[in-house]
Amino acid sequence: MTRATVLIDGNNFYASCEAVLDPSVIGRPLVVLSNNDGCIVSRSAEARALGIPMGSPYFKLRQQLQRHGVIVRSSNYGLYADMSQRLMATLEVWVEELEIYSIDEAFGLLHRPAATNGQPGDLRDWGQRLRQRVRRDLGLPVAVGIAPTKVLAKLANRIAKRDPLQGGVFDLGALDDPSPWLEATAVEDVWGIGRQLSRWCRLRGIAHARALRDMPPGELRRRCGVVGLRLQQELQGHPCLPLVSLPPAKQETCVSRSFSQPVTSLVELRQAIATYLSRAAEKLRRQRQRAGAITVFVRSSPFDGSSFYSNAATAVLLLPSNDTGVLLAAALPLTDSLYRRHKPLQKAGVLLQQLQPDSLLQYHLLAPLEPQQQRRREVLMATVDGLNRRFGSGTVQWAACGLQPVWAMRRSRLSRAATTRLSEVPLVRA
Ligand SMILES: [Mg+2]
Repeated sequence: MTRATVLIDGNNFYASCEAVLDPSVIGRPLVVLSNNDGCIVSRSAEARALGIPMGSPYFKLRQQLQRHGVIVRSSNYGLYADMSQRLMATLEVWVEELEIYSIDEAFGLLHRPAATNGQPGDLRDWGQRLRQRVRRDLGLPVAVGIAPTKVLAKLANRIAKRDPLQGGVFDLGALDDPSPWLEATAVEDVWGIGRQLSRWCRLRGIAHARALRDMPPGELRRRCGVVGLRLQQELQGHPCLPLVSLPPAKQETCVSRSFSQPVTSLVELRQAIATYLSRAAEKLRRQRQRAGAITVFVRSSPFDGSSFYSNAATAVLLLPSNDTGVLLAAALPLTDSLYRRHKPLQKAGVLLQQLQPDSLLQYHLLAPLEPQQQRRREVLMATVDGLNRRFGSGTVQWAACGLQPVWAMRRSRLSRAATTRLSEVPLVRA
């Protein structure tokens, strides 16, 4: 029995999540916009067919979209993250090991059974069953690529997605000779080939994945060392990139946003920083970590030319903490030091650094901490997090965050939070 690597990837993930929530958009062109309703980041198949380009600014296409009756949605990250978790939980059952690679993409390992003639067996049926299961349980369309290695699984997934004859599943490992498929994949489209490397390949006449697989390894090694060799080995079907099942403990956590309109007052800037910090501290507590240092950064619009302003300030905490109150006390003075009266700011953020597990706390001689007081604060934080989880983010918040932020992200076309907020669960009248 041999091992197979599978890559499962959501089709038009954000747009598909919107359709799960609101079936009336199924079969209609729909696009999802990035933060502040900036650019198009996801398109339904129908929007794609209209030739609406990915990544283009919304304001430029507004009229064209209207003319075609395209449905426009602000990004609803709460919904996408929740659907992603459900997707990954389903996939976990179907493979022996799972590596969550991005919000809508995961690698899996499974055994490939041998066929009766001793040749490698075909996993297409398995892939189809998985695809139907995800469709039935979650309403999400996915493509399944199966191959001996990660690089080839990526390639197989691409074929599964693009070739209508494959029905969303492609098993490269079951073929006697995968060469024609590698030949049909441009070198730029091989996973791990950046723009520079693909230019280098093209100059050498290496135009597709097959040529890359068969080129002299010495040449590849001279150009990009062991990374290039690994990539070539993977293309040849020899696994070199292991699955990373457990995400490594995070060293840093960052929350930053662009403002919907330039921020010019210190009061507003402090509110924004306090809001981002509360979010970051919440993340930290969820990850069971404490931060040893905190950085606040601000910048004006990059189109400001000579008056462009960008600055950052860091404070090291005597005692690592994940207590929003403690972190705020460190962050707000930093914010004051960064503020300039005549510099309208477009973006700001908070970076929590020197993260460490909350099971270890190195006490500091100069920062005495009452164990009882410490415990009380922990209970308080857990209560706040619990309330916000249950009744929606921002139900309980620090006064420093402000009540009606004018700088908050623009999300004028947001769908409901029907999978994460009880009050927005749809009502069925029967
Ligand atoms: Mg995808």
